[in-house]
Amino acid sequence: MTETTDVCIVGGGVAGLSAGVFTARHGLETTVVSTGESLLARNAHLENVPGFPAGVNARRFLDMLERQAEEAGCAFREGEVTRVSVDDEGFAVETAAGERFWADYVVAATKNTVDYLRGIDGVGLVDRGKMYVDTDERGRTGINGLYAAGRLAEKPHQTAVCAGHGAEVAVALLEADDRPFYHDWVTPDGYFSDRGREVPPGCEEIDEAERETRERESMDAMTEAFTQRHPDEPTQHPSVAADDESETRTN
Ligand SMILES: Cc1cc2nc3c(=O)[nH]c(=O)nc-3n(C[C@H](O)[C@H](O)[C@H](O)COP(=O)(O)OP(=O)(O)OC[C@H]3O[C@@H](n4cnc5c(N)ncnc54)[C@H](O)[C@@H]3O)c2cc1C
Repeated sequence: MTETTDVCIVGGGVAGLSAGVFTARHGLETTVVSTGESLLARNAHLENVPGFPAGVNARRFLDMLERQAEEAGCAFREGEVTRVSVDDEGFAVETAAGERFWADYVVAATKNTVDYLRGIDGVGLVDRGKMYVDTDERGRTGINGLYAAGRLAEKPHQTAVCAGHGAEVAVALLEADDRPFYHDWVTPDGYFSDRGREVPPGCEEIDEAERETRERESMDAMTEAFTQRHPDEPTQHPSVAADDESETRTN
């Protein structure tokens, strides 16, 4: 099966989903291809992301980030990406199951997995015990249109930093794309237009009624998300999980 998309994001963790929120909100067809769980699913209680004074359940945070990316317009495909290749037309992204995506842009956000990028001339891989992709500050690799985000781009191993980097990489991509882009901002009515300015591309002015509608929707979404404890336990480190299993067998 072959699909075309404007942006293919490889890795639906913190950085990939955060990048997808920005590219999809700005009208780029965005497909997130991922093997599944973010490393953050191993966290016990997430206490250092902005805006949660008492912390937040990390699996709840990931669910909400995924929902946000979906509402922004991202499509999701489960699959292990095994190869990315590039030609004059763009990128071919292939999965272990034989699916193929044609994309104008690729954002690699797979933490320390780089095998699918081997063999692309112009993409530098860095071996520091774990593998990373060599990029500039905004996630650009040596190939136009191919970006790396989050931990994979050697960012500190922190959720807020990797999410922020995903957003920064997406903005770099939007700036490189042909369509006009200023900032992704939602402002009160008149913020630009009452100063005789056009509302810049990427920005939106909303009136009081629309503000109330959106605020109420956000209150409902937050209430729904935080009424009950999250049903899933943290994912244990594989070696601890294996030890626990062999102990159970010997007990
Ligand atoms: C036990 C633990 C506790 C932590 N606690 C905190 C904390 O309290 N605060 C904090 O700030 N940070 C914490 N972190 C760190 C945080 O989880 C990471 O920094 C963050 O998840 C990195 O984001 P990322 O998007 O780069 O990678 P990830 O979120 O791990 O996303 C990578 C994604 O790529 C996918 N993927 C991998 N290979 C492929 C492939 N070939 N094809 C398709 N998809 C692929 C994976 O399935 C995953 O969805 C913790 C980490 C651990 C392990």
